[in-house]
Amino acid sequence: MLAWYAKQGRELPWRQTRNPYRIWLSEIMLQQTRVEAVIGYYQRFLENFPSVEHLAAAPQAAVIDLWAGLGYYARARNLHAAAKLVVEQFGGIFPPSPEELQRLPGVGRSTAGAIAALAFEQRAAILDGNVRRILCRLFAWQEPPRSSAAEKQLWQWAEELTPQARVHDYTQAIMDLGATVCLPRKPFCDSCPLHELCQARRLGLEQQLPLKQKTKPVPIRYETALLLEREGRYLIRRRPANGLLGGLWEFPTVSLADGDAAEAKLQLLMHEFAVSGELQPLGSIQHLYSHFRLVLQLYRLSISDWPQVAEVENDWRTVAELNHAALHGAHKKAVGKIPATGE
Ligand code: SF4
Repeated sequence: MLAWYAKQGRELPWRQTRNPYRIWLSEIMLQQTRVEAVIGYYQRFLENFPSVEHLAAAPQAAVIDLWAGLGYYARARNLHAAAKLVVEQFGGIFPPSPEELQRLPGVGRSTAGAIAALAFEQRAAILDGNVRRILCRLFAWQEPPRSSAAEKQLWQWAEELTPQARVHDYTQAIMDLGATVCLPRKPFCDSCPLHELCQARRLGLEQQLPLKQKTKPVPIRYETALLLEREGRYLIRRRPANGLLGGLWEFPTVSLADGDAAEAKLQLLMHEFAVSGELQPLGSIQHLYSHFRLVLQLYRLSISDWPQVAEVENDWRTVAELNHAALHGAHKKAVGKIPATGE
């Protein structure tokens, strides 16, 4: 693995540092996100918040707005909360032990292991999605990969395989192997440094493993959004900092219960804003969040006077600006439904 990594390892901006702040930042950004998407954000974050103290001192809204487009926004809120905790409880110095690192919001066992290994050269294991896949294949684990038995067994293998020395390089190597060789659909077994050891390959099961996890049906929520337009700008409001999708922006929205007509519900919202006019239907979109699917019906209303907007943080943005705003998933898609100007 180490010899392979020396030749085939990727050059990435966070690879040249042992600075725990930079490594932690990269690890949080890389959760559920591809390297290519992360690089620009990583660099912009460091320009804006060069140290954990800068990040802790920033308003949460500034952190969320800079995160716009990277998705999984709970990470941005946790990042900010964790920076505050490092400054307030650890004097601005990241603790080296995986146990203490796990006290930081957004840092689970695997992320803690990665920071400990990469920044502090601690013998700590990681078990992210890529490593999970490699281990399931390497040992031909033919049971559900997310059961508690699998969890116990995979962590045990991950820990046993982590070497005493060169933990930093080994950790990067196994991450790279998962990202570039042992790919989910079609692994490149011929180029893999583990191919002689790999049980899945020996059994011809490399494309069947890990077994697919059975997914539960997700509940559906229905909402309708008002795209209130004045002189080419649309009204958006920031959701409360705490709670579901906290701190993110959205168009004014109303929940729909069974049998509710969207237009009738929007009339109530229009009454609240003291606006009137003809609602223009823009169709509906669906978006899958972690615990539910949202079906969002969209209506546009053009107005010429200022509405009465209740006292929540709000703003008027052009379509170009909306494309870069920290809107949550469904509302980001809604921007794409806005007709070109003049219609
Ligand atoms: S031999 Fe193939 S399946 Fe096995 S670890 Fe390597 S790439 Fe993955």
